[in-house]
Amino acid sequence: MTDLSLVRRHVMLGAAGAATLAATVSPPPAAAAVPPQQGANPPRFHRLKIGDVEVTTLLDGAMQGTNENIQRFFPDSRPEEIVPLRARAFAIEAGLHQPVGAYLLNTGRNLALIDCGGHSSFIPTTGGTIAALRAAGYTPEQVDTVLLTHIHPEHALGLSYDGTTRNFPNAEVVVTQIDHQFWTDPSMESRVPQGQRFIEAGRRAIRPYSSGPGGGRIRTVEMREGLEVIPGVFMVPAPGHTPGHVSFRLTSQNQTMLIWGDIAHQMVIQLARPRWRVGVDVDSAMGVESRVRTLEMLAAEGILMGGVHVPWPGFGRVIRDGEGFLYVPRPAQFT
Ligand SMILES: [Zn+2]
Repeated sequence: MTDLSLVRRHVMLGAAGAATLAATVSPPPAAAAVPPQQGANPPRFHRLKIGDVEVTTLLDGAMQGTNENIQRFFPDSRPEEIVPLRARAFAIEAGLHQPVGAYLLNTGRNLALIDCGGHSSFIPTTGGTIAALRAAGYTPEQVDTVLLTHIHPEHALGLSYDGTTRNFPNAEVVVTQIDHQFWTDPSMESRVPQGQRFIEAGRRAIRPYSSGPGGGRIRTVEMREGLEVIPGVFMVPAPGHTPGHVSFRLTSQNQTMLIWGDIAHQMVIQLARPRWRVGVDVDSAMGVESRVRTLEMLAAEGILMGGVHVPWPGFGRVIRDGEGFLYVPRPAQFT
């Protein structure tokens, strides 16, 4: 330990520590040794009730991009507009920070996941969903349904890490027929802005649920407003990001919540500028219309919402704010 680190320790102790600064020339007693740093974050989950349904957010991880990613992500953006938007929200000043989560619904009839996180093979800082699921008191074997908002890596790779093993061995995977067809069509490689790597990752994730031993577990459904995918959970179409991209609306005992996939990746930026196109959308003009329609609906209804890239703990509301919208987080609550 260097003298400098000793000084830092005492400064961090505050006023009492500062008073002992003069004593830092001699090493501390062994009993006062600082324990080793603990490294990785523990699995994290947070619960609330929507009527009779228990909703648990599972933190999968996060994605971190550079400032250069901003222009690729938001081709309509200008840096001088980004800076004040971030400052207003006390957001990280540089790069693109994007949390990744998944939502577990215990409806009493189903234990269903909405999206299931990524994996470190694709994005190193993702893949925590199953550990969070276990920490929340469940096992992957108990999950009977995985509802996919769309087949993108950080939403679907949690299904299978190796392309042969089902991480949720007893689950049926529900996805829109149009998204399933799009991602499995052998001729579509040139139509995806994200490129071949995205396509391969998506196909690998769903493969053991569609073919091989125990396959036949993909339920493709039409993309239709109000389609009840499992009892009490209804589809809200949101095409554009991918052709079959959807949100899900959960209703129980006159309470309702909407959970989206990628209506917004960057809450601070995109709610203020909902008409900025997203560079990774398959059809960015259609993506804008779906985003604006969804945000207008949420602001009008004032209902609780969540989303895969919504900041932890992943629950909040959308309100109108000038020409755009504002995300108001719901603080973690324990009653
Ligand atoms: Zn996506």
